[in-house]
Amino acid sequence: MRTAPMPLDKYLDDKVTAFGDEMYKRLQANKGKGGWESTEIEYLILKLTEEFAEFIMAIRDKDQKEVAREGADLANISMMLVDRIYGLNLPSE
Ligand SMILES: [Mg+2]
Repeated sequence: MRTAPMPLDKYLDDKVTAFGDEMYKRLQANKGKGGWESTEIEYLILKLTEEFAEFIMAIRDKDQKEVAREGADLANISMMLVDRIYGLNLPSE
């Protein structure tokens, strides 16, 4: 008996939530470095290239845990750049 496929919205929610959880873990692990509100854009761009290289190395090393960590690091630097340039809104209280 075949099971019904997972609805696309649930699939997307689950994947984005799981990846977001990994991003959050990495931010917590690095919170001693402080925030990014006043970090130079060019410095964040440099970090983006460093994290990209680390992500590629983890993929080539076939290290699954490191792929998750470095993918989240890369996403976090991307998030910081979007926040610095575009401005991410915080939920209103
Ligand atoms: Mg990294």
